[in-house]
Amino acid sequence: MKTIGLLGGMSWESTAVYYRLLNEAVRARTGGHHSAPIVLESVDFHDIHRFQHDDDWASAGDYLASAARRIEAAGADMLLLCTNTMHIVAPAIEDAVSIPFLNLLDATGEAIANADQTTVGLLGTRFTVEMPFYREKLRGHGVEARTPDAADRQTVHDIIYEELCQGVISDASRDKFLQIIEKLRQSGAEGIIAGCTEIGLLINQRDLSIPLFDTTQIHVNTAVDAAMAD
Ligand code: GLU
Repeated sequence: MKTIGLLGGMSWESTAVYYRLLNEAVRARTGGHHSAPIVLESVDFHDIHRFQHDDDWASAGDYLASAARRIEAAGADMLLLCTNTMHIVAPAIEDAVSIPFLNLLDATGEAIANADQTTVGLLGTRFTVEMPFYREKLRGHGVEARTPDAADRQTVHDIIYEELCQGVISDASRDKFLQIIEKLRQSGAEGIIAGCTEIGLLINQRDLSIPLFDTTQIHVNTAVDAAMAD
């Protein structure tokens, strides 16, 4: 089995989920005492939050590229960036390493296309839903993303940073998410992208009447496929 490199800590609440899901998937596929070979670098999210706040994507790219190089040097055979938002600087990270970079946005676009969906609702940070990088990537897979209105985008953004990234899970916020999802469904979304790696901590498929594309789970599946390929 190949070694999976994780660039995480954005936030660590979702990186912990990656760690558990990767190991559960390997156990489910192989049985016995197998577990996932992983190299993890978990950054200080305060640094990332500061780059975002300062709109300093170049420094964020340099910072994460350095971490990516250390993960490669530590023996990883592939690299996952465990956050949707920071795929803004995916090109800088990909250029810094020679191991394959398993792009979460491509994995998500492929999963949606494989489900024969073309119009989905996108939930994530304001960076993810308002900057063009995410929707452009999806378009490359034949997927059109609808986004919430400005007030709802802010609500989702605030819940992600002030609650989910801080380990706070609340029924009131789940209800807000479900109301926003219902509006997206009424506007034509056939499915919903949980386009932030912490959203799966708050809602899951059982809460929804339409398919939920959980980017953490999709990314994990892609990694385990790659790790177990010949
Ligand atoms: N984990 C989140 C995401 O998937 C947000 C935290 C961040 O800013 O990286 O977008």
